Amino acid sequence: PVRVRFAPSPTGRLHIGGLRTALYNYLFAHKHDGDFILRIEDTDQSRYVEEAEADLMQALSWSGLNYNEGPGTGGPHQPYYQSERSGLYQRYAQQLIDSGHAYYAFDTEDEVEAMRERHASDDNPSPAYNAHTRMEMRNSLSLDDDEVQQLLDDGAPHVVRLMMPRNETVRFEDEVRGTVTFETQGLDDQVLLKSDGLPTYHLANVVDDHHMRISHVIRGEEWLPSTPKHVLLYDAFGWTPPAFAHLPLIMSPESGKLSKRDSNELGIPVFVTDYREAGYQPEALINFLALLGWHPSDEQEIFSLEELVEAFSLDRVGVSGVQFDLDKLNWYNEQYVRAMNAEDFAEALRTQLTEEHLPITHERLMAIAELTQDRVSKVGDVLTEHRYFFEDPTAYDEDDVESGWTDQSAELLQALAEVYDEASTFDRDVVDQGMRDVAETHDVGLGAVIHPVRLAISGRTSGPGIFDLVAFMGRETTLRRIDAVID
Ligand code: GLU
Repeated sequence: PVRVRFAPSPTGRLHIGGLRTALYNYLFAHKHDGDFILRIEDTDQSRYVEEAEADLMQALSWSGLNYNEGPGTGGPHQPYYQSERSGLYQRYAQQLIDSGHAYYAFDTEDEVEAMRERHASDDNPSPAYNAHTRMEMRNSLSLDDDEVQQLLDDGAPHVVRLMMPRNETVRFEDEVRGTVTFETQGLDDQVLLKSDGLPTYHLANVVDDHHMRISHVIRGEEWLPSTPKHVLLYDAFGWTPPAFAHLPLIMSPESGKLSKRDSNELGIPVFVTDYREAGYQPEALINFLALLGWHPSDEQEIFSLEELVEAFSLDRVGVSGVQFDLDKLNWYNEQYVRAMNAEDFAEALRTQLTEEHLPITHERLMAIAELTQDRVSKVGDVLTEHRYFFEDPTAYDEDDVESGWTDQSAELLQALAEVYDEASTFDRDVVDQGMRDVAETHDVGLGAVIHPVRLAISGRTSGPGIFDLVAFMGRETTLRRIDAVID
């Protein structure tokens, strides 16, 4: 049976690349009627970030990627936190020592550093702690048994290291990249158990994948260099390794891997919860991410999660890095926004408003939703591009002023303000008729009135139909905003 896992380390907020990894695991599991497991890899205490787990849970549930086994949900292999499984890893480290695949090492960091300096050369600036050098270090291979026992009895700090074979080629099949080979030459004898008694990623990951009966390891390409170490560990334990699939990196539109820099410089959100906050639809983000590294067999672009499950396969995952394209994401999001029914759009808008502490009545909410749904590519745009619904414009875009404002504009607005002020009621018809009357009495086209009004109301030259907009704003707000631009 297919069993896959998403195994994040709680070292920070969930990155968009992490969500894609979770998604591909989810799709693969569902495609094969398998299980999708969440495992928290929290054995590196120095990198542990308290809020990371809550962020992760929120990001997964917002995206709709539910897991069948994991924290909260439980399952046959709990606990799903590695920090609660340390006894298991210690037992397996011991097993490797007993079978001659691993050994104790008592060296201090300084001693390891001194060894590297001793052997450093131009070709090899950082020599490995391995078959070439391990015999000159303080470990259970170089010391005699009594000494080792004494050190252990004294509670001397130590780690457990894997005995890396000297000059071997490690080979494995990757479902995405085919046969992959790595040379062990130059690799360190990997630390498996740290001096705090906790496992490194490599040991915990292999022990858990085996114990949790994981059939396929689907993860980002950045883990590819770790895989030969894992393959050697499976060998040492005498276990059959799972199948591996390494997903292409998500690249910045500029250069290198997508990173925090892209969010600062290009405005690309890198954390999943940023997309929620910016007012993206999770279905759109999922759809976009699915096609960031995988491609369907035809030209179809819009996929529901169910359709993605149906269409997904690992052999359509690409090998080379894929460039993040924010315009494409916005395009996707726009498709989803257009397809939403009015209530759902309004509800999503309400969520955004609540987060920004902008209270609103149901009636106003529905009205704003109706005026904006066709004009935004994401719900969050209502709060940014169309902020004038909630507060008076404080700035008028220079280009907009250029195209919307003439020498006569102030006079026209003044006249219009008088008409509106004297009207007995204020509704769409009054708004409409008022602008026509002013245009007529001043012998100008309707546009000469509409443009400055729009500028006054919204600070921009485009937006919802002007009569609807002004009627929605109401007399008081309209007069105040007209007043503000005339001054
Ligand atoms: N804990 C690793 C991470 O943070 C897991 C990598 C893997 O899937 O093996 O992504």
